[in-house]
Amino acid sequence: MQSRNSSADGKPQKKYYSVRKKYCAFCKDRITLVDYKNFRNLENYISETGRMFPARVTGTCAYHQKQLSKAIKRARQMALIKFSEEKRGY
Ligand SMILES: [Zn+2]
Repeated sequence: MQSRNSSADGKPQKKYYSVRKKYCAFCKDRITLVDYKNFRNLENYISETGRMFPARVTGTCAYHQKQLSKAIKRARQMALIKFSEEKRGY
C-alpha cells in the first residue's frame, strides 16, 4: 500500500478558502466618529475573551482603528463591555 498526501484520484488538492477583500465597516457607513456608547457595535471587534481584534483581522483602516481602540477602552471603563481576560499559567 502506498501512502500519499494527495487525494485518492491523484488530482492536486485545491485550497478551499476564498480570498475576500476586507474593508473598513466604518468607512463604508461613513462614520466619522466611533462612539463608545454604541457598544453593541464594538462587541463585533472584541474576541470572546474580551481582547481587541487587530486591524489586519477586521480590515479596519488606521484612522478608525485608533478611534475604535479608544472607544473600546472607554466602554470598558463605563462597564459596557468586559475587560480582557487572558488566561496565563495552568
Ligand atoms: Zn475606516
